[in-house]
Amino acid sequence: MLSQVKGLTPHFTAETLRGYLLDRSVRRDQGCLIVRGYGSQRGVYQKVAGRAWAHIAAYVVFVGDFDPDLDVQHLCGVPDCIEPTHLRQVSRADNCRTRMQQPYCRNGHEREIDPANGRYRKVCRVCNNEAQKRWRARQAAEVAAARATHGRSTA
Ligand SMILES: [Zn+2]
Ligand SMILES: [Zn+2]
Repeated sequence: MLSQVKGLTPHFTAETLRGYLLDRSVRRDQGCLIVRGYGSQRGVYQKVAGRAWAHIAAYVVFVGDFDPDLDVQHLCGVPDCIEPTHLRQVSRADNCRTRMQQPYCRNGHEREIDPANGRYRKVCRVCNNEAQKRWRARQAAEVAAARATHGRSTA
């Protein structure tokens, strides 16, 4: 069974791998179990226990009936989540289809179709505008604060 987990350090048993995964993970909102892999980048697929993908290892030891020909997909959309009830195996074709069909950005805005290729744009224009607005507001606040300080010191 564990031999199906590519890159896994061979000394693990299902039991010790379960413990290892749980030791490295924390429960988050929406019930996600976020695992900490190597490296500092969070929010992406995590490698653990040698060079194994954490979500695949979790599927094998917590869910079982792993089919190596199928992808493991996150129902929650969180790549570093290993909560067994959030993991599902789907065919590669299904996985691609659902990935392409996300009609909303992660903040719930409707996504735009790029006329160049007929696919959804990667960047959400509304989110982008809001980020720029926040940035400008921060800049304006800093300028105002600097002016206020300056005004006091010269008064
Ligand atoms: Zn999750
Ligand atoms: Zn958005």
